[in-house]
Amino acid sequence: MLADLPISVLAQKLKRSEITSEQLVAECYDRIEAYDGTINSFITVVDRKKAIERAKFIDAHRETFPSPLAGIPYVMKDAYLTKGVRTTAASKILDAFIAPYSSTVHQKLENVGAILIGKMNMDAWGHGASTENTDYGVTKNPWGSDRSAGGSGGGPAAAIASRFCVFGIGEDTGGSIRNPAAWNNITAMKVTYGRVSRYGAIAYASSLDTMGPTAKTAEDCAFVLEAIAGYDAYDATSSQKPVPSYTKALDKSIKGKKIAFPTEFYGDALDPNIKEAILVARDIFVKEGAEVTDVSLPLLEYGVPVYYILAPSETSSNLGRYDGVRYGNGRDLFTKENMRRIMTGTYALSSGYYDAYYKKAQKVRSLFIKEYEKLLSEYDAILSPVTPIMPSKFGELLDDPIKNMMADLYTVIVNIVGLPSLAIPCGFTKDNLPMGMQLVGAMFDESTLFALGNAYQKVTDWHTRSPNLVNS
Ligand code: GLN
Repeated sequence: MLADLPISVLAQKLKRSEITSEQLVAECYDRIEAYDGTINSFITVVDRKKAIERAKFIDAHRETFPSPLAGIPYVMKDAYLTKGVRTTAASKILDAFIAPYSSTVHQKLENVGAILIGKMNMDAWGHGASTENTDYGVTKNPWGSDRSAGGSGGGPAAAIASRFCVFGIGEDTGGSIRNPAAWNNITAMKVTYGRVSRYGAIAYASSLDTMGPTAKTAEDCAFVLEAIAGYDAYDATSSQKPVPSYTKALDKSIKGKKIAFPTEFYGDALDPNIKEAILVARDIFVKEGAEVTDVSLPLLEYGVPVYYILAPSETSSNLGRYDGVRYGNGRDLFTKENMRRIMTGTYALSSGYYDAYYKKAQKVRSLFIKEYEKLLSEYDAILSPVTPIMPSKFGELLDDPIKNMMADLYTVIVNIVGLPSLAIPCGFTKDNLPMGMQLVGAMFDESTLFALGNAYQKVTDWHTRSPNLVNS
């Protein structure tokens, strides 16, 4: 199966004409047709003929597409505008919406010759942690069909795990690229806020939203990030900082790298299987030459309460445009979870409550920034779980809003502060369910995270495993 191979190998084989992009793309479509009826990771599959045409074009003009991503099939979470291919944000409000322009990330990938084959399932508007809060049917976890694929970006993650494509673009406002990565045994980079343009991304919470790569390995994510990162005049929050070579950073030595291990993160809230797996990973980092030190990050427990004031406040404002004037009528078509967030946000922002909730949450945000900046001036990375729980059974999170929020315990502060974080597979339970960990780094230091992740993946093989799929 070609989609099993790393981007570096695929690029080389394509360059030497040992394989064609047409062949690679066709193989992905065959798998989608055979298996996605069960998994339901796609909301929209790009017309097969169109994708094959594009692949043939890239094959025929290979010398004009020097990028390692040329001819490589990829998917995007359905939160990004793709000219000519519909974008729904997993809500019927946008069921018939075909954007008149493309998000910058999509445009950049098109320019280098990567081939978009699908728009992927997610929790509507990004609200959720299990891809159950969607108008397009739940995405099943390829590792266990009674379990969710995580959220909000369950679609892209399940598709990569299923080898329906080679890489994907996810969105992370409070964990949505990392949580599904952990639950599907794949790798994902939540980038520093401002590292990748948000132009053409359907806004969830604008001060927290990030677009990033998701793939099988840290190495593959580095290839993708190199292609999509950088300043964009269309996004005032995108950074002017030059983009380093992430692929060159991959093989940098991790000897002497300092990793912080926050002891509060490994308490009772954490599933003991995940704790055990990360303790083993900790030893591997030490064996590879890094120093791991116990530290304290006492503000952890305030992350979820603060996030669930800030994110709903921003989303209540962003979703105000779906009032039925230009797009479908939100009042009838928002889900219960969407409504809960809009109501909470509107409440927190209303006069009389603003000071008690929104303003207070912003104050705590400053405390998080101080706490993390101090720690990350002394350490290269923080080793953390991604989720406190194993992939949830259907209904487990959807029917329990508090549990749903608590699934974000370890991910939301990273967004509140704006830091980068690499989620990587770190083992399996006895029942063959995948587990993940994350390495959180200093602002704009994705490079160090790639080096640490790559060093770990060189001596482990979790990331090479793929699920046994059932024909649909
Ligand atoms: N689970 C979180 C939420 O529902 C994260 C969502 C996201 O990152 N898009 O808000």
